[in-house]
Amino acid sequence: MYICSFFKISILFIMPTYRGRFAPSPTGPLHFGSLFAAVISFLEARYNEGEWFVRIEDIDPLREQQGASQNIINTLSSHGLIADASIIYQSNRAKLYQQTLDQLHKNNFAYACPCSRKYLLTHNGSHTPSCTTKQADITECAIKFRAPSNLQEQDQFIWDDKFQGIQTRKLSNDFVLKRKEGFYAYQLAVVCDDISQEITHIVRGYDLIESSPMQLALYLALDKTPPELAHFPVIAFKNGQKLSKQNKAPAINSNLALENLLTVFSILGLKLKYKPDNCKNALDEALENWNPEYLCGKSELIP
Ligand code: GLU
Repeated sequence: MYICSFFKISILFIMPTYRGRFAPSPTGPLHFGSLFAAVISFLEARYNEGEWFVRIEDIDPLREQQGASQNIINTLSSHGLIADASIIYQSNRAKLYQQTLDQLHKNNFAYACPCSRKYLLTHNGSHTPSCTTKQADITECAIKFRAPSNLQEQDQFIWDDKFQGIQTRKLSNDFVLKRKEGFYAYQLAVVCDDISQEITHIVRGYDLIESSPMQLALYLALDKTPPELAHFPVIAFKNGQKLSKQNKAPAINSNLALENLLTVFSILGLKLKYKPDNCKNALDEALENWNPEYLCGKSELIP
């Protein structure tokens, strides 16, 4: 009995209770919307006395912009956002993704799909009759996740999102795990990495909420417990436009780091008691006044 309690205490001591991350794709330099995301995930991790990691999601060479990864890392650090461990690059982790894909295939959760996008579009998402029964090692095919048949009828994924409350989603379609061109898909890579980095809390923008049912399906198929999910509202302008790389949001100017942080805090409704004179003080001061409730029940924030 005594040994048990001691053992439990030691486990509690060793196991991190909160491991969060910021996972930008280097499709361009850091823009204000991504800085906003980085700050929220950072403050949430610190507020929960947790660790915060940065992972560069550079698995899509066709969308990657040269120099963007280093630019993002430099911009984060000039804003005082320093990861608690070395930065991970998805481009180095193909072995892990392939092993996971093999495991999914072995357990009948993956199949090679030769159907073109055009075929699927014109056939209401139905595959060619022989498609889903083929082996997943055929080259020139996308490898897709096969949703278990009992999961396709009713609402299957329910989670209590920290910012959005109870969410219920269907897994509407099978989805790509590895693209025909040979690149691993975001859904697969993100789940493999969150599992291998033992991430306990995913804090990201509302624009990614529809990825969650696919990722939860992968956790289920891999027999792993998913992290807690928290989708914060994204910044939108009055004209309804989102702040994103697609909308050509301008790159962050690191020379204005303190001002940038103060703008983020004001959008987050944070009232600082003292005027900070550098980014570290600004983040400490924001932490003192951090109010996650402000983000609850909203999908967008208009500055
Ligand atoms: N890499 C994704 C992006 O930049 C974010 C992934 C995530 O947070 O799950 O949009």
